[in-house]
Amino acid sequence: MAAIRTIAQMGHPILRQVSTGIVCMEDPDIRLLANDLLETAIQSKGVGLAAPQVFESLRMIVIASRPSVRYPHAPELPPVVMVNPELLWASNEKESGWEGCLSIPGLRGLVPRHLRIGVRYLTMDGEEKDVEYEGFPARVFQHEFDHLQGVLFIDRLESLNDLVTEQEYQRRLTEKL
Ligand code: ZN
Repeated sequence: MAAIRTIAQMGHPILRQVSTGIVCMEDPDIRLLANDLLETAIQSKGVGLAAPQVFESLRMIVIASRPSVRYPHAPELPPVVMVNPELLWASNEKESGWEGCLSIPGLRGLVPRHLRIGVRYLTMDGEEKDVEYEGFPARVFQHEFDHLQGVLFIDRLESLNDLVTEQEYQRRLTEKL
């Protein structure tokens, strides 16, 4: 049974550590972590989550993009667990977009990210996958991948003027509609 785990909040040192590669996907603790990570991302209305955010300094992320109150314009993608993900290449072209983080509640930042990326990861069945992402899913991957390096979205801001409260972010969203 999957459980919702407590999310580490900004300031906790685990969010600044470089995570360790996963060796054995058969390990029951690793299988439980994968299930819990997915459940926690979905129930918390996140579009992605990284293992360090649930106090496990291991190289596992989930991407679970779909429209929600937090991300009304997020595309619907089947939830995926990525073990030991790698960034194979990234386009020079970047795009700025608003990001939030379950570890940094109440704040949003305008973050430049590579528009297109190629990634490699292992599935929980040990299968190697090569995938290309563009736009929002590419952004989510880069955000979650950063967590494995101990990097947070606030580190990627070009200016502190690009950091706003959730309330201000929602106000801007509404104005644009
Ligand atoms: Zn995050």
